[in-house]
Amino acid sequence: MRRSDNESVFPCADCGAETAAALERGFAIDTETVICFDCAMQRGGHWDEERALWSREPDILGLVPLLDPAHR
Ligand SMILES: [Zn+2]
Repeated sequence: MRRSDNESVFPCADCGAETAAALERGFAIDTETVICFDCAMQRGGHWDEERALWSREPDILGLVPLLDPAHR
């Protein structure tokens, strides 16, 4: 059973934990690729509580070679 798009849950691209990006402050790399909050923080991301956004994006190098068209 698929949930609605608002509740989309994807495995963290780093540790594999199920992450609902919109609800749990995961960092969305693209529409179907997220990393969980903990991994994003470990990778140098900075979460701005007041604005509810990543004021500094985590380093996602090495996580998503699939995003590079040259590797397709
Ligand atoms: Zn993770």
